[in-house]
Amino acid sequence: MKLDTTGLDNFIDEKAIWGIVNQNADASTGRVQEILDKALEAKGLTLEETACLLQTEDPELNEAILETAGKVKQAIYGKRVVLFAPLYITNECSNRCAYCGFKDTNTELVRRTLNPAEIKKEVSILEDIGHKRLLLVYGEHPKFGGDWIAETVRTVYETVSEKSGEIRRVNINCAPLDVEGFRKLHEVGIGTYQCFQETYHPQTYAELHPRGHKKHFLWRLHAMHRAMEAGIDDVGMGALLGLYDYRFDIIALLAHAAELEKRFGVGPHTLSFPRLEPALNSDIAFNPPYPISDTQFKRLVAVLRLAVPFTGLILSTRENKEMRRELLDIGVSQLSAGSRTYPGAYSDPNFDRPEVQQFCVGDNRNLDEVIQEIVQHGYTPSWCTACYREGRTGEEFMKLAKNGFIQNFCRPNALLTFNEYLQDYASEATRDVGHKLIQDEVEKGSGTCQKNLEDRLSRIEQGERDLYL
Ligand code: SAM
Ligand code: SF4
Repeated sequence: MKLDTTGLDNFIDEKAIWGIVNQNADASTGRVQEILDKALEAKGLTLEETACLLQTEDPELNEAILETAGKVKQAIYGKRVVLFAPLYITNECSNRCAYCGFKDTNTELVRRTLNPAEIKKEVSILEDIGHKRLLLVYGEHPKFGGDWIAETVRTVYETVSEKSGEIRRVNINCAPLDVEGFRKLHEVGIGTYQCFQETYHPQTYAELHPRGHKKHFLWRLHAMHRAMEAGIDDVGMGALLGLYDYRFDIIALLAHAAELEKRFGVGPHTLSFPRLEPALNSDIAFNPPYPISDTQFKRLVAVLRLAVPFTGLILSTRENKEMRRELLDIGVSQLSAGSRTYPGAYSDPNFDRPEVQQFCVGDNRNLDEVIQEIVQHGYTPSWCTACYREGRTGEEFMKLAKNGFIQNFCRPNALLTFNEYLQDYASEATRDVGHKLIQDEVEKGSGTCQKNLEDRLSRIEQGERDLYL
């Protein structure tokens, strides 16, 4: 891989970001109300408006922010929530990120890279419990280039389980590649390319990433530019919260999104906002230098929902089940479930071992338990991959999303994939609550879409699979 940072500009202007944060602290009640009224139109917010909401400490106004975010979320996404699982392919890594259990100096970590047979085994297990969407995760090492990563993706797509399962969308979280490398990933049919900047504050970034390719801030900052240049138009970005002041990192993250939109006509498909979790032999992971409270975290998620209403917000199992339930109501649209964070974990009966995992998870429930709770909470789990398979990605997807498409297509498609889950994988208790939810949803609808939905729901019951609108 050619790692070349000459000519790469830092489009994140540190002074300007701090200016926006500082000039929008202590806003009046009237200004916050004004911004919330605008946010209800679901057209997004400026960085200044976002900074203002992000720093609203008044408990009543805070409540109003969460409530407004809930309304916007409901209007755009309805009650559907997309589910996926991470699949760790390798924890070998030559970088030295201070917060990560996979860093090169962590000699206590048991290192492992899955071979094709082991990948197939993991994938089969995930398919047999009902997963259709995976996020493949990799450490960064010179021996893993674009070709090698693409081959692991091919292996996943080729693994079709006897129990009627196949993976329909493979997303990737790997270190930034060059354009050639990204082209290999595009050719093999990845969904979203995901990579977090961790922190947008250059000095903090330099201190926390002293070694390996990852020490090059600008190389990482331009990862999405290269991915898009290579034809990948769904990209996922994020910041690791706890490393630096979250107000700076969130405004910078949105500035990054705006830069992509300006340059390529489309911003990120998803955003992630992981909080630091304990990791083996990492002091900083146990004691984050900039801890973020639950109240700040919830507000931040609600503000993101208002700032970029059509961008997917992803929540992992780093958070516990109570927090996951609350965030679903105010902004999150995708959840990972039943996750394990090391290579070979799904085939491992003793999976809760710190000496192998990247970090500790906060929600250890299995997929069926998560689904049952989601349904009881009024949500429809979805494994829909229709848009991606019909080429409705990037700018095309955003255009459709802004015209009510999500309610008319994503909702019925969620019900169709959920019905598949109930037929093939659900426990009896989940099946009971699930059938009731589908029945209630069907009774609510009308029109041509509805007729198509009912027809396909009954075809699924008769054994057909992978039907969508
Ligand atoms: N190695 C690639 C990279 O660094 O971009 C991709 C995989 S890395 C395992 C995925 C993400 O995990 C990182 O981008 C980081 O944000 C997150 N992460 C690392 N250590 C963590 C910790 N202790 N708690 C929470 N998230 C962590
Ligand atoms: Fe390696 Fe990624 Fe962990 Fe850094 S965050 S040590 S690059 S796996």
